[in-house]
Amino acid sequence: MQSIIDMENEYVAHCYKPLPVVIERGQGIFVWDIEGKRYIDCMSAYSALSHGHCHPELVATLAAQAHKLTLTSRAFHSPALGPFIKYACELTGLAGGCPMNTGAEAVEVAVKFARKWAYEVKGVPDNQAEIIVCNNNFHGRTTTVISFSSEPKYKEHFGPLTPGFIRINYGDAQALANAITKNTAALIIEPIQGEAGILVPPAGYLHECAKICKKNNVLFIADEIQTGLGRTGKFLACEHENVQPDAVLLGKALGGGLLPVSLFLANKEIMTVFTPGTHGSTFGGNELACTIGHKALKIIVNDKLSENSAVLGDFLMQRLSNIKTPLITHLRGKGLFVGIEINPKYCTARDVCLALMANGLLSKETHETVVRLAPPLIINRQQIEDVCEIITTTFNELTTK
Ligand SMILES: *Cc1c(COP(=O)(O)O)cnc(C)c1O
Repeated sequence: MQSIIDMENEYVAHCYKPLPVVIERGQGIFVWDIEGKRYIDCMSAYSALSHGHCHPELVATLAAQAHKLTLTSRAFHSPALGPFIKYACELTGLAGGCPMNTGAEAVEVAVKFARKWAYEVKGVPDNQAEIIVCNNNFHGRTTTVISFSSEPKYKEHFGPLTPGFIRINYGDAQALANAITKNTAALIIEPIQGEAGILVPPAGYLHECAKICKKNNVLFIADEIQTGLGRTGKFLACEHENVQPDAVLLGKALGGGLLPVSLFLANKEIMTVFTPGTHGSTFGGNELACTIGHKALKIIVNDKLSENSAVLGDFLMQRLSNIKTPLITHLRGKGLFVGIEINPKYCTARDVCLALMANGLLSKETHETVVRLAPPLIINRQQIEDVCEIITTTFNELTTK
């Protein structure tokens, strides 16, 4: 195990700080390390594994399609793209989409669509468009996307950065109203801030933001890359407040845990600003990705994964709040998207993750003090009990040491 970790350290860019475990195999909510030890995966690859590891239907679909056709580039047509985007539109109440690969690319496309829409539809003078984002946002790691991050580590010495972004405090609708000018193109917002530590905004906030955007002819663009596809107990997290965004970004679980698949989805007025030549991606919309993406969406709907997330998320939260430990200062989240705030007087969130790992549960800290619980959405009630038992045991060990 150590030799694998050593080789990775020797040759691979050091932009992550993984837990010291080498995972060799996965099935459903479980993974096994190379020594055969089993863990429950409560990390789900930052929610990209909502269907669980190696979902049999998805793997079968992948294999069959891989034998038939994988990639044409969009120089030609292929049969899976249209039905995939049509289905995604039906599920999100939007009119069309631009297929990409990673989440950050979908965000890049959102920036391009929003700016072009501002110049060509709203009438903002060229090069003056402003996009509003929130403090503590996470939208990905490309140069433009880090330009509007508030996290110094994400952007230090990566400049010069892309201008045209205004940051406001998350959770404060008045701040949005104050920041809007005649040149504002869009608000790009996470319905729950995942990487910031599963920060749930005050009730009514998203609804209020959407109202302010509508009144000022500003696009409300929801980055649902992590919160979407059932993670928070609704298909889109915006549905908790009956908000219909002008555009939605999907990624992560859209690839069923097998492939990078992302989408920018929007209403008709926005979609019309892209014309041949204005954007492109060699792999975006490839036949294999569209087949998997379509199947991944169907499984979420047919297997009622959003409903499972809602019901078991409530159950998980209730069980966690019954754990008597001084280690937890705060619990927050929606559905199976939960953040446990750890009392720094006892230990760091990473210490907790290492101790959980020793007891057969994998998670990852976000920042110093938050442990994220985001198991695959296929998890069942008994397995949630098992998760809570491991957490209880681990927290007892950590406080009696
Ligand atoms: C993960 C994430 C992204 C970036 O997705 P990548 O596939 O890592 O590029 C963007 N927005 C949100 C909200 C995310 O959680």
